[in-house]
Amino acid sequence: MKTQYPCLIVDLNKIRQNAKLLTRLADTTVGAKVFGVTKVLSGNPEVALALLEGGCYGLADSRLENLRAIRLAVSVHPIYGDCPLMLLRLPAPSQVEEVVETADISLNSELETLQLLSQAAQKKNRIHQAILMVDLGDLREGIWCGDDQWEKSIGMVREIMVLPSLRLIGIGTNLACYGGVIPDRETMSRLLEIAARVEELAGYRLEIISGGNSSSVPMLYDHTMPAGINSFRLGESIILGKNVIDRSDLPGTYQDAAICQAEIIELKMKPSLPSGHIGQNAFGEELSYVDQGIRQRAILALGRQDVVFEGLKPRDPGHVILGASSDHLLVDVTDGRTQLKVGDVISFIPNYGALLALSTSPYIRKYFRNP
Ligand SMILES: *Cc1c(COP(=O)(O)O)cnc(C)c1O
Repeated sequence: MKTQYPCLIVDLNKIRQNAKLLTRLADTTVGAKVFGVTKVLSGNPEVALALLEGGCYGLADSRLENLRAIRLAVSVHPIYGDCPLMLLRLPAPSQVEEVVETADISLNSELETLQLLSQAAQKKNRIHQAILMVDLGDLREGIWCGDDQWEKSIGMVREIMVLPSLRLIGIGTNLACYGGVIPDRETMSRLLEIAARVEELAGYRLEIISGGNSSSVPMLYDHTMPAGINSFRLGESIILGKNVIDRSDLPGTYQDAAICQAEIIELKMKPSLPSGHIGQNAFGEELSYVDQGIRQRAILALGRQDVVFEGLKPRDPGHVILGASSDHLLVDVTDGRTQLKVGDVISFIPNYGALLALSTSPYIRKYFRNP
């Protein structure tokens, strides 16, 4: 079958291998289980399966649509048929019915929503499993456990305990998302302390103490993760093989499981400075240009409708991205390794934001290789 462009090519085997390495690391260091996070690839079921084959215990996504597609695909699987599915984004009160229908576990921080989830689960004769999110300073989701609000938070746990069709199975935290707070021994110990107090109130051991997202992976590599943290929710570290604290490569992983390709539709020698009076470009930006003389410039059929172009890294280190409009990507290819012609294809490695956009754009063809 002919490849069509622009496209996103996902190597499922590389994702499987990355998952294998990180799930083993989580297991051997602190005995933790990993929920593989699929949202950056729109909950693609083949990716979900590769994550499970790579050793993930369950799957997690922020969107119900994605979880539904995964459930449909995985439920018939002989081995992974009943793997737990987790909803990452806090449930919207208007969607509690769908949440209990689709997700086994959800992350929560609002008592009202938990009450609604319990009611919805009761109607369906189910028990919904909830993880209470704790904000350890990153200022995204989670109950605030500072001394001033501790009593209030404890009161909330008591209220959760009486909900008939909801079981509090764990607590969790999310770091390095909004505030850029880096997980360390102190934050993780704080989570363990809070877990112990919740267990005391609940009168049972919490199944899950979820020590965060990919930003916790460096602590696994350098063996600083405290024992007791027994679960992680990993997306970027598995899919892109990146240390999300400093964006260095995670040793032993692939960084090119997802690549973007686009086709050259114009290739010409042109000056590097625009000529005429210079005002704003199509996006209201006033850019400055450096005179490098006459350069070979390629226009690719790929644009801002498809990707966050600043997040693309050309695979040929001689290629330099100059800019993009809605539908065109301009690349200086003068110093590239190969002689190019119109119709040739240029490859890029996307970062997380670029991959998210590529996966979501309906104009991008998606190919999943090495099933
Ligand atoms: C997206 C998300 C994750 C996964 O984050 P990565 O940095 O990709 O590992 C984990 N937890 C929550 C709540 C999320 O929204």
